[in-house]
Amino acid sequence: MIFKKKKYKSFDVLFIVFRASPIYTILRAVFLIIFATVPTVVTALVTADFINTATAILQGTRPHNDIYLPFVLLLATLAAITIMGSIVGLITSKMNFDLQRKLKPAMVEINAAVDFKHIENAESWELISRVSRDPVGSITSGFEGFLRILEIALSITSVLVLIVAQVWWAAIVIVAFSVPMLWLSLRAGKKNYQAGRDAEKFNRRNEYLDGVLTGRDNVDERTVFGYGDEINKRWREQYEAGRILQLKVNIKMSFITKGSSMILSLISLLIALTLIGPVVTGDLSAGMYIGIEAAVFGLIRMLGWQLFSGTENISRVNEYMKDLTAFMALSKSEDVLNLPDAKPIDIKTLEFRSVRFKYPTGDRFILDKLSFSLKGGRHYAFVGKNGAGKTTITKLLTGLYTDYEGEILINGKELREFPSSTLKAMFSIVYQDFAKYYIPLRENIILGDVVGTNTTEQISNIATKVGLSETITELKNGIETPLGKIIEGGQDLSGGQWQRVAIARSLISRAPVRILDEPTAALDPISESQVYSEFEKLMRGKTTIFISHRLGSTKLADEILVIDAGEIVERGTHNELMMSNGQYAEMFEAQRSWYQ
Ligand code: ADP
Repeated sequence: MIFKKKKYKSFDVLFIVFRASPIYTILRAVFLIIFATVPTVVTALVTADFINTATAILQGTRPHNDIYLPFVLLLATLAAITIMGSIVGLITSKMNFDLQRKLKPAMVEINAAVDFKHIENAESWELISRVSRDPVGSITSGFEGFLRILEIALSITSVLVLIVAQVWWAAIVIVAFSVPMLWLSLRAGKKNYQAGRDAEKFNRRNEYLDGVLTGRDNVDERTVFGYGDEINKRWREQYEAGRILQLKVNIKMSFITKGSSMILSLISLLIALTLIGPVVTGDLSAGMYIGIEAAVFGLIRMLGWQLFSGTENISRVNEYMKDLTAFMALSKSEDVLNLPDAKPIDIKTLEFRSVRFKYPTGDRFILDKLSFSLKGGRHYAFVGKNGAGKTTITKLLTGLYTDYEGEILINGKELREFPSSTLKAMFSIVYQDFAKYYIPLRENIILGDVVGTNTTEQISNIATKVGLSETITELKNGIETPLGKIIEGGQDLSGGQWQRVAIARSLISRAPVRILDEPTAALDPISESQVYSEFEKLMRGKTTIFISHRLGSTKLADEILVIDAGEIVERGTHNELMMSNGQYAEMFEAQRSWYQ
């Protein structure tokens, strides 16, 4: 397990990266230590030796040949540094690859387990998308941040060792200035991440509007209504708001970074001036002076930008870890990733007993003491106006929301006591906004029965039953044709054809209870009632629940439950309800003209 804990602090990135890629993490650390200490000292010493020898040759105190060794050493040092840089690059890319391979699936798995109520809640959804957008990027940059700081600390120590013997106070000055700069950078990093978080809200709205402006789904409405300019205006406003927020932080950051680089340059100048004294008195050789100066300048340059980017990365990852902790704290269903049971249980009764329910974000009870009971093997229709609570009933029945009051009993046993694999195997549902998967038609259908081993023939049979045989002959590669236009050779389907694919998925499912929640709302009433009557025939002997606000399509049901404001107001067969002359009869009369 990559994510073992519930609470995360910034340094946890080190453990996460180590767990994902132990060998390369160790190699990276070893190279870092070598890289941060050896080159600084060796370069200074070799440079000093080279310059001192060259000076001596010019003064005629040493033979010309003496220059070769220091020259070769200098070249070899520079070459070694370059080669080591490439090796570190290679190790880093291997490490990132391991992270991609292990972190991403781990994150997807946790994401899938998050309870449905958090997905429907805007605030927790924002947290989820923030955490899962780029976990690898966030964690690696935090890890790099820590490495950078370690590298700086080691480099400073090695340069200090080099100069402390010459001018001890220079060492103190460097340390004294590094500490407040470290603090400033940490603050700047935190501010930057928070601004990023605020900008995220704008980004998400932007992304959505961008989809509306350029996506394929809305192209027809976009053309007909000509709303492009209006949406464009909104897009610009959102974009501007996000951009200005980020710009303010960038300006602040650049003042802080530029200001501190100037201070650092002054320090290095001061060191250079002070070291001239010992050179004049002969306590420090000219070569050593240049060697030390080169090391100090290198260090200052490093402090200038590496310190900032390092600490910024750390404080960013610190904020990310806070988000990760909150994300881990979201309630999850541990067994959510289990496949549905291969052999579903038989359904004898489904019962709602005094069920009260309100959405986590709402303050109104959508269902208030709702009670009804259904028998297995029969066809039911839930009818009622939009917003009456029909879909909410299906969400509770399928276990998407479990914090209701009262009881939902399946064969007399409370729904919450069933393992999720059993519950999953019980229901198949086609929603109004059913999914369209841009994968081959055959795979689109077998998604309805992931535990099964359906042959192509069986799948074709199902497709024929839902009236897709003509579609299949029209598709270039028959049932193997990828649907949607995102893949080369892919073909799009009409709205009605997509509906049939969704129904085929429900049909192939081995679930004993099938629910159609107005997937046909986009059809005209007559076509809708045709689809429902076909479905009804195909589902004889199974428990089905048809949901619709249009009554022509549901009158075939064995029993109709009329729902209004979260309550069952009438119940009976079509004829019984017509006879009793209540709400159903009134609605049916009002809709009669749709079917004539
Ligand atoms: P129906 O399926 O009968 O059209 P729904 O069950 O979808 O009705 O909705 C019933 C009520 O619950 C509506 O008032 C709707 O606004 C509200 N509602 C639906 N989903 C949510 C949600 N995720 N959060 C808050 N309120 C919701």
